[in-house]
Amino acid sequence: MEYIPGPAAPTQGHILCCQCGVPIPPNPANMCVGCLRAQVDITEGIPKQGTVHFCKQCERYLQPPGTWIQCTLESRELLALCLKKIKASLSKVRLIDAGFIWTEPHSKRLKLKLTVQKEVINGAVLQQVFVVEYIVQSQMCEDCHRIEAKDFWKAVVQVRQKTLHKKTFFYLEQLILKHRLHQNTLRIKEIH
Ligand SMILES: [Zn+2]
Ligand SMILES: [Zn+2]
Repeated sequence: MEYIPGPAAPTQGHILCCQCGVPIPPNPANMCVGCLRAQVDITEGIPKQGTVHFCKQCERYLQPPGTWIQCTLESRELLALCLKKIKASLSKVRLIDAGFIWTEPHSKRLKLKLTVQKEVINGAVLQQVFVVEYIVQSQMCEDCHRIEAKDFWKAVVQVRQKTLHKKTFFYLEQLILKHRLHQNTLRIKEIH
């Protein structure tokens, strides 16, 4: 018996793309890269926009939930902060490269160029480059807020005890010092 190639026999070892018929080296999806890319968007589900909060007073960026960090434009720290915002959605792809695209410092925009890879249909790996844009929103951090408005406070605590000795209060004082809470305390007032 003899193997007779069919009439549309492609170049040796090649197959035809099941979508457009272009001869291609075989791959698990049997599709050319163009057709695969047209069918699959591996960046689906990754937000292309986000926000970062920036305190103009002390020039720090908010690292949620409550840390403010100092970092310059296009720094590694700022890159990490931006990536953290979309971290969950990046778990489904492999992050190959990430970097900033230059934006005018007064534009209040940060642009990140990301390259990701993902295995699609039976082991074929696709790579995609895309941009995520962040809007820089100004927000005064708590430290600056406290300096700005002298009477800014989050909580008032009143402690009462009817007794002749002050032992409990001394103990409380030690606890406050131990946990360094006095640093963020505005005022401690004794009332008879
Ligand atoms: Zn094709
Ligand atoms: Zn600040």
